[in-house]
Amino acid sequence: MTSTICVNILNRRRKMGPKKALKHRLSNDTEREFGGTLGAVCIPVFLPLTVLFLICVSQSPEASVLQWPPCLPSADQLWDPLAPILLLGWIGLHVLLYLLPLGKVSDGLALRDGSRLKYPINGFHGLCISAVLLSVLLGLGAPLGYLFELLVPLAVSAIAVSFLSSVYLYVRSFWAPSHALALGGDTGNPLYDFFIGRELNPRIGNFDLKYFCELRPGLIGWGVINLGMLMKEAELRGSPSLSMILVNCFQLLYVADALWNEEAVLTTMDIVHDGFGFMLVFGDLAWVPFTYGLQASFLVVHPQSLSLLTAAAIVALNGAGYYIFRKSNSQKNQFRRDPTHPSVSGLETIATATGKRLLVSGWWGFVRHPNYLGDLLMALAWSLPCGFSHLLPYFYVVYFTVLLVHREARDERQCRAKYGLAWDAYCRRVPYRIFPYIY
Ligand code: NDP
Repeated sequence: MTSTICVNILNRRRKMGPKKALKHRLSNDTEREFGGTLGAVCIPVFLPLTVLFLICVSQSPEASVLQWPPCLPSADQLWDPLAPILLLGWIGLHVLLYLLPLGKVSDGLALRDGSRLKYPINGFHGLCISAVLLSVLLGLGAPLGYLFELLVPLAVSAIAVSFLSSVYLYVRSFWAPSHALALGGDTGNPLYDFFIGRELNPRIGNFDLKYFCELRPGLIGWGVINLGMLMKEAELRGSPSLSMILVNCFQLLYVADALWNEEAVLTTMDIVHDGFGFMLVFGDLAWVPFTYGLQASFLVVHPQSLSLLTAAAIVALNGAGYYIFRKSNSQKNQFRRDPTHPSVSGLETIATATGKRLLVSGWWGFVRHPNYLGDLLMALAWSLPCGFSHLLPYFYVVYFTVLLVHREARDERQCRAKYGLAWDAYCRRVPYRIFPYIY
């Protein structure tokens, strides 16, 4: 009986075609991502409050995430007219830098209608020009350390910009042709679609809104906030601590690496698969810049001393994580762009029914997500300079583990749907997902 029902459902889905079938499947709330409608309602309330809570905790003397009542900013701490001016000025600067005719222009992966979008690869130029402008401002005596006081109002402004942009993106998606909508973002449920994102690659002319937000204002802004925390510490104690320097250098390396390898973002899930809605806008503009660098604001109020030996061990851990992360991401990116390239042509692969092949040796034969493993080792190295007295500096590594385990499961589901038996064969060949012999 059950199998007859299943066969009927399968036949119905085959008749519908892939787009309709996915829409049909997604109309069932249990199959939607991030907890379906409930998640789409709760997450946009809960995460912005979490950002404000975490900033507040990091700046409080107790720095206790478990304290009751929870540490939240008072009403007068939420607003400073300077914050929206700085934020909008910063976003405006990066719009200009994006439009500068610097660097090469790359093709994205083929879209459902067979076309390819063009993307300017000039994010690293944007980082360098921002660094020069910042040095000039510092030379002129700009009080960058004031960012410490301005963190909460800046975060409030970024949250407001995220909500407003998401409303704009949702409304404009109704003018997009159906082939331009994300497969998972067009369920017909307004709350869920607003959250997950309807349109895959919203553009104003040639200006790609998702690609712009992915690596520029938020990611580079994170580096600037960290520098502001370093300046604040120097103001308070005469010079920045070794812990603060390590946190700044590690995270700046991560930001610079992402921008140096900007082209690789064109093959990631965010660009290829996910619509552009609240989830990504908020993540890019508010979550990343204001929670990924909490260690730095924590260190301003809670100085830590670090021996040279401990510092060397932490640097080695970050270096190992970075090596795994970079090598594995580059290997897959190279393989997807040109499987005949000498650096990947000798690797063992298995064929799939789609015509694409899967790597089963090299980094991708070690675990199924070596890039996540490297990223997590780095995340741990960013927290260790803050010592073991508080939980807060470990927020990022705990959150990131949950995020990547969940992301891995999403990716696995999508790959199984895409590659079927070939994916199962890959999983048998490479049994561990992220951590060898553990998970
Ligand atoms: P990945 O770069 O891991 O890409 C997953 C895709 O790779 C799959 O969908 C599949 O796509 C392809 N793939 C999987 N296995 C193989 C294989 N064996 N051979 C060839 N191709 C394979 O996805 P993410 O976008 O999740 O991650 C990119 C990087 O960004 C990671 O390093 C991650 O750690 C990092 N990241 C960082 C975040 C942060 O907040 N700091 C957040 C999210 C990610 P297909 O076959 O269609 O090409």
